[in-house]
Amino acid sequence: MISFDNTEIAFKDKSSRELKKTLWLFRLVGNPGLVKTGSYALKTALFLKFPVRWAIKPTVFDHFCGGETIDDCDETIAKLGQSGIQTILDYSAEGKESEEDFEYTKNQILATILKAKNNPHIPYAVFKPSGLARVALLEKVQNREKLTEKEQQEFGRIKQRVETICAKAKETGVPVMIDAEESWIQQIVDEMVEEMKFKYNKEEPLIFGTLQMYRHDRLDYLKDFVKRAREKGVFTAFKLVRGAYMEKERARAKKLGLPSPIYPDKPATDEAFDQATLFCLDNIEDVAVCVGTHNEKSCALAAETMISRSMPADHPFVSFAQLLGMSDHISYNLAAEGFNVCKYVPYGPVKTVVPYLIRRAEENTSVAGQTSRELFLLKKETVRRKVQ
Ligand SMILES: Cc1cc2nc3c(=O)[nH]c(=O)nc-3n(C[C@H](O)[C@H](O)[C@H](O)COP(=O)(O)OP(=O)(O)OC[C@H]3O[C@@H](n4cnc5c(N)ncnc54)[C@H](O)[C@@H]3O)c2cc1C
Repeated sequence: MISFDNTEIAFKDKSSRELKKTLWLFRLVGNPGLVKTGSYALKTALFLKFPVRWAIKPTVFDHFCGGETIDDCDETIAKLGQSGIQTILDYSAEGKESEEDFEYTKNQILATILKAKNNPHIPYAVFKPSGLARVALLEKVQNREKLTEKEQQEFGRIKQRVETICAKAKETGVPVMIDAEESWIQQIVDEMVEEMKFKYNKEEPLIFGTLQMYRHDRLDYLKDFVKRAREKGVFTAFKLVRGAYMEKERARAKKLGLPSPIYPDKPATDEAFDQATLFCLDNIEDVAVCVGTHNEKSCALAAETMISRSMPADHPFVSFAQLLGMSDHISYNLAAEGFNVCKYVPYGPVKTVVPYLIRRAEENTSVAGQTSRELFLLKKETVRRKVQ
């Protein structure tokens, strides 16, 4: 049986001072009123171009991010690496709209691929398609709306960016994960990802798509994709997540009078996530999977299934991933048992990363979320260490 309760392992990289600071931070983000007011104040301060760095950098930024540049992340990469945890560098600029920004983001991703090539602690690169493209245009393409000539050229440049990144993945042998987005652009993202998989996954699982298992069509999509990939003789590769945009998805479906793409309740999402994990493990000969979750049960199911099937813990086609600063008890305990574990390590200038940090704080505040568990474990470790 896998257990995530060993707090000595979970927090072994944290000094007692760091432990106390983390406890303080999780108490803060565990306060819904404070997070709500703080998020609002931050958004307003950013809008008014009021300096926020002094408040953000030493607190949430240092906890949830690796640094402001790729090289700033070296310390985090090395620290995680010492505990057998790998890093996925995640350039976290969100809500960008200009061609210059998209080109800049593309170059950042290419730089993370090169960094990964030269660093054994970085097994994958990652990108978010909306970091390379205007969401409104992707939506238009997905809806098969007629594009102007200018828009056609713009879409051509988006596809070229994706192609450039995937070609670099092939050239360097560094696999790339492509994040999943809102359903109103995910179909066009799927189409681009499939094209890249059919081109580059012939010899190894190099291009990973992402499946949001809160969507009730994703298990069928996974099964159908595996069938089609086999017909074409390519490897399947997916990161499995539950999905980050539930409220937005439901609100939009309601507004437009459409059926919601999301399962009606959490148990149904949990069941689909675990079914998808088992399906990938059942087909492991040509399906690579990254189990991207902070859910203890889902991680335990995947790990225990591997053990019961006598699969090596470090099977090259199976990895686990959590976000930096969250669920260390899962990451560190899985790594201690020899599983392939990664942390998404977000980086970017403090101001640019703020939307990501607000989402993290809000996610940690939700009742069903993580904070009470994180707090319980942090307190347990302070008691074990007799930290005052
Ligand atoms: C490494 C990593 C990469 C990620 N990449 C992406 C990505 O590319 N795209 C993306 O969208 N998200 C991504 N996420 C975020 C992810 O989708 C989840 O939002 C987050 O991880 C919380 O889910 P969980 O499985 O960790 O935990 P849990 O706490 O077990 O699950 C919470 C999740 O369950 C689902 N849920 C909650 N309530 C209900 C309900 N009433 N009905 C139906 N479903 C419900 C929601 O998806 C919610 O986020 C990533 C997460 C990680 C760890």
